[in-house]
Amino acid sequence: MIGIFGGTFDPIHYGHLRPAREVMNALGLSEVRFIPAANPPHRRAPQAAAEDRLAMVRLAVADQPGFVVDDRELRRGGPSYTVLTLEELRAELGPDVPLCLLIGADAFAEFETWHQWQRIPQLTHLAVVHRPGSVVTGDSRTWPAWARGRACRDPNELAATSAGRIAFVAVTPQDISATRLRERIARGESPEDSLPPAVWRYIAARRLYSQSQSLERHHP
Ligand code: ATP
Repeated sequence: MIGIFGGTFDPIHYGHLRPAREVMNALGLSEVRFIPAANPPHRRAPQAAAEDRLAMVRLAVADQPGFVVDDRELRRGGPSYTVLTLEELRAELGPDVPLCLLIGADAFAEFETWHQWQRIPQLTHLAVVHRPGSVVTGDSRTWPAWARGRACRDPNELAATSAGRIAFVAVTPQDISATRLRERIARGESPEDSLPPAVWRYIAARRLYSQSQSLERHHP
């Protein structure tokens, strides 16, 4: 089963990387594909340029067995609808390969706002991971109504079919958010414990998210 992890990754941090590793181990995924979004439909434009976000994801996974980077959403351009990415992957991999989309509990709670969201469970399983602060937990009564009938108690059952089930995977909570990281960096802090060292070096060398960099970007 192949794991798919989309996000803005602005920047990528341990709140992405550690749950991804734990899900990979829990579900026996053959790989996890990190897919940075070009133009996320649901939120403000990313602060860092697409090539910087991609470079940071590459640095973060470089020494991580089984983690790979897929830059298709950046190459494709336009809105990075997950459904389009999944349709492409299905066309490439065929109908029988089990796929599993990794999402945080906060993203799962607002899943019905995603473009053609009903189509997504036809293309992939979902592995939902705990995110501190989210009301969605492993108890499927806290899940959106549409998802409850798809609940899979034993995550090992996912690989038996190619799509359509939802498992909540228990992971070590990581109270890290990219928004808070950007704010801390802009204040001059060095949140090195929340990111891989190579990613922090990249941010520091390019002065990403620093106040002067944001001013340059907003008032060129
Ligand atoms: P922000 O903190 O600004 O909301 P983010 O890190 O959530 O940013 P993305 O990079 O788009 O933004 O997140 C990609 C995916 O990673 C989403 O499914 C999100 O729920 C999940 N995620 C992000 N941070 C965590 C975390 N600390 N724990 C669990 N899941 C997370």
